[in-house]
Amino acid sequence: MLNGSEVSKGIGIGIAKVISSPESGVMSNDEFTAAISGMKPGAVLVTSFLTPYMVGVLKDYSIAGLVCETGGMASHSALAAKSMGIPTVYDVYGATEEIHDGDTVIVDGIGGYVYERPDPDIVAVYSDKRKKYLADLEDLKSYRNLKTVMADGTEAVIMCNASDILSVMHAIDEGGEGIGLFRTENLLSGEGRIPDEEEQTRVYSRIASAMKGKEVIVRTLDIGGDKSIPFLELEKEDNPFLGYRGVRYSLGHRDVFTTQLRAILRASAGGNLSIMIPMVTCVEEMRNIKSLIHEIKTDLRDEGFDFNDDIKVGATIETPSAAIIADMLAHECDFFSIGTNDLVQYVMSADRGNSRVAYLQSVTQPSILRMIKQTIDAARSAGIDISICGEAASDPEVIPIIAGFGCRKFSVNPRSVSEVRRTLSEWTTADAEKLASDILKIPVDQEIKEYLHKIYKDRKS
Ligand code: PEP
Ligand code: MG
Repeated sequence: MLNGSEVSKGIGIGIAKVISSPESGVMSNDEFTAAISGMKPGAVLVTSFLTPYMVGVLKDYSIAGLVCETGGMASHSALAAKSMGIPTVYDVYGATEEIHDGDTVIVDGIGGYVYERPDPDIVAVYSDKRKKYLADLEDLKSYRNLKTVMADGTEAVIMCNASDILSVMHAIDEGGEGIGLFRTENLLSGEGRIPDEEEQTRVYSRIASAMKGKEVIVRTLDIGGDKSIPFLELEKEDNPFLGYRGVRYSLGHRDVFTTQLRAILRASAGGNLSIMIPMVTCVEEMRNIKSLIHEIKTDLRDEGFDFNDDIKVGATIETPSAAIIADMLAHECDFFSIGTNDLVQYVMSADRGNSRVAYLQSVTQPSILRMIKQTIDAARSAGIDISICGEAASDPEVIPIIAGFGCRKFSVNPRSVSEVRRTLSEWTTADAEKLASDILKIPVDQEIKEYLHKIYKDRKS
C-alpha cells in the first residue's frame, strides 16, 4: 500500500497505465498526449507529474482513477483533477516504480491510499466501500435543489467555483446558488491570444444570463505562480509564487487589465456581476484599481455603453498581508472572499505544488484558522459581504468551523455543492460556534484534525 494526499473523492479500481518521467525529468504536453494515447477506458493512470493542461487532456479518457507522484493537493493541477470527479491521490512517492503496467490498482481518493496488486480480501473491502460511497452520492442528490439552511434555520448560500461555460452549466445542474469564483485564466488563454473586449463581453454576459440574476463573481486574471500563459512570454522568475502574479501583473499591463474590466462592466448591464481582485496585499492596490475602474466607467459612459454603476469590487483574501490588514482593506472593498489555497501556502511558507511540504499545507493550522476568523470578523464589522472560495470550503470537517466563525457563503467545486449543503443542514449555529471556539484553543494541527475527525465520525454514527 502507498500513501498520498487525497485530491478527489471516490474509490477507483482498474488496470494501471504507468507513465514515468523521461530522463530529462520534464515531459512536454505533446509527449504526455502521445504516452496516454491508446489508454483503455477504466484504466488507472499512474504518472510522475501532471500540469493542469495534462489533466484537461484526460477528460477525453474514461479513467477509473488517477495517481500522481508529485503535485500538492492544492496545486492547480490537483484542483483540475478534482473538478473531473475521478478518484485521485497525489504525492504518492515511488508510485511509477512500485506499480507496473497491467497491475490491478485501487485508488482510495477518500483516505489517500493506493493499493498495488491488492489481495482479493482488500478488493472485497474496497468493492464494499465503493458501493457505500455510491449510495451516499445518491443520497446527496436530494440536496441538489434545496435551499441551504442550517439545523437552527439560519440560511446560508452555496455558490460554485467555475472556469469555463461548461463548469457554469455544471454549477447550475448541481444546484449552485451563484458563481462565487469565476477563474478567468482559461478564458483568457484558450485561444492562444487574449480575447478582445467584444469576445470577453459575450462570455461574461453568457455566464451572467445562464445564472439568471444570481451573483457571479468574476476574478480578474490571476496569471503567475503555477499558472502560466505561454504566449504572454512572462519573464522566468526564481520565485514565481512571490513574483509577478495576479493583481501585480494586471496593474503592470493596463491594456490587458482594462480590456477585461471594460468587458466585465459592459456585461454587468444585463447581469449580476461582481469584480474580484486576486493576490491583493495592500490598500494601495485596491485604491489604484478603484480609480482605474472609475476612469473606465467614465469612458464607457462617454461611449454610450450601459453598465452597472454600483458593481461590487472585492478582494480575494489569500495573502498574510491582506488578512492582517483586513479591517483596513474592508474600507476599500465591497466584499472579501477567502482563498484558503493560497492563504495556506503563503502563511505556512509552503509552496502549494511541492509534495515535500504537503504536511504543512493544512487549513487547520492554528495560524490559518486565526487568520480566517480575523478576516471574517473584519468583514462583518465593516458590514461587507464575506465568502470563502478555497478548497477548505468543501471540507465537511472544516465547514462547521467556518460557519462557527460567522461565514454564511461558501463557493465550492460544483461536485461538492450537495455535500456542503448537507453538512450545514446538520449543524446549528450554536454548535458550530462552540466547535469554532473550542478548536481555536488547540495549538497543534494534528490534534485539531483528530478532534474534528472524531466529531465527524460520532455525528455520522
Ligand atoms: C485560492 O487561492 O484559495 C483560490 C481560490 O484561488 P486559486 O486556487 O485559483 O489560486
Ligand atoms: Mg489563489
